[in-house]
Amino acid sequence: MRNQRRNDLLLYKLTLYQSDARIWLRNDSNEQGLRMHHYVNSSNETLRKRGYRLTPQRYMILSVIQEAEEHLSIDQITERVQKRNPYVSLSTIYRTLELLRELGLVRENHLPGEQPHYEAAAGKAHHHLVCRQCRAITHLDDTLLGNLNEQLQEQYHFHGLTLDLVATGYCNTCWNSLEHELPGKQV
Ligand SMILES: [Zn+2]
Ligand SMILES: [Zn+2]
Repeated sequence: MRNQRRNDLLLYKLTLYQSDARIWLRNDSNEQGLRMHHYVNSSNETLRKRGYRLTPQRYMILSVIQEAEEHLSIDQITERVQKRNPYVSLSTIYRTLELLRELGLVRENHLPGEQPHYEAAAGKAHHHLVCRQCRAITHLDDTLLGNLNEQLQEQYHFHGLTLDLVATGYCNTCWNSLEHELPGKQV
């Protein structure tokens, strides 16, 4: 309980010099606000355990990634961060992303034909369906894979594994338009 209060106090102090403090507080009552609050709280915890502080830059980059609800390239992150604070340098963004990735707070995705993209790692499935035509990305419900992780550990004695499944194909819209354009085409 005391830890929780200290975290809240730290976040409150941080928000005093955050440009997005008001947005965050205003959104706090709705779902996105609560998710944000939870994500920042648990990120703060993870950072602290590893001896890092939730600096204003780290907070800002985490917020940008969490609020996006989509994959962001480094250019998109830079643009959004610098809109809030133009003095955050590109090298700070690179270093921060590297740290957040190492701590498992941010996921770096390497999808076919794309530059690396980033997303919040908390509570999300890690598998993607990618459309070959429109590049739309869908998160795959990881319960579909059952206990694949455990099976791999049992059968292959391969431990501590991270599974990044990427399935490429055509989304329904693209599939229908392809069939329309080229009747009988074997894709
Ligand atoms: Zn598509
Ligand atoms: Zn993703």
